[in-house]
Amino acid sequence: MIIPKTREEIELMRESAMIVSKTLGMLASEVKPGITTLELDQMAEDFIRSHDAVPGFLGLYDFPNTLCMSPNDQVVHGFPNKEPLKEGDIISIDCGVLKNGFYGDHAYTFAVGEITPEVEKLLKVTKESLYIGIREFKKGKRVGDVGYAIQNFCESHGYGVVRELVGHGIGRKMHEDPEMPNYGRRGRGKKFIEGMVVAIEPMINMGTRQIRQHTDGWTITTLDNKPSAHFEHNVALIDGKPELLSTFAYIYEALGIESEEENEFRREALVL
Ligand code: MG
Ligand code: MG
Repeated sequence: MIIPKTREEIELMRESAMIVSKTLGMLASEVKPGITTLELDQMAEDFIRSHDAVPGFLGLYDFPNTLCMSPNDQVVHGFPNKEPLKEGDIISIDCGVLKNGFYGDHAYTFAVGEITPEVEKLLKVTKESLYIGIREFKKGKRVGDVGYAIQNFCESHGYGVVRELVGHGIGRKMHEDPEMPNYGRRGRGKKFIEGMVVAIEPMINMGTRQIRQHTDGWTITTLDNKPSAHFEHNVALIDGKPELLSTFAYIYEALGIESEEENEFRREALVL
């Protein structure tokens, strides 16, 4: 059952989402060759707690850390560890926060130093597909419309769209209805309703869409060991239109990137 949120609840969710956004922005300046994902995880936990919030993944389904850290061929759900990041790696960082009883949850795939043009393109297309999906999250549309739009765009670039892992509704629980697959058929699935909030999160592989789950029960890698990218936003349906509760603006500020990609999904200019 989809649980719509009141305007007041959506504002609380925006607060949770923004703490995740700021955490990812803080990490953006720290992601570089030599740092370990465990060091980044500790920084994120400290940062989140300093904002009177709680790491949303820590302890959720017994996950032992603050961040899911998935380098290179890992799709999602990787554990932070003591292995230093290397020049040319990519690292998908997924972060959750719980504050005022509501969750925020989003993700970004970072380049570590210089990456190859092929991998750069994977990141660009995956992020673009996120916004293409968000554009379909509006009055009159259904779950399948978002999935179709993401799938169609990514497959047109020859990429594999992961089927086993999906986006989700979010609220007082990290994972609420509906499931939001990154594939689908137009006009199919649950209808979107005013006040609902979802996490849209394409997980896109450079090669095959097939994945493999490791024996640790968490880590998931691509079957062909080619890289995989993951970008995620929290989006509310307000006045029939998608509105972003999260932002990559703090990341862009840290990295010195100019971007207008989020503007159409905000009614007010974002004040950093
Ligand atoms: Mg996430
Ligand atoms: Mg999520």
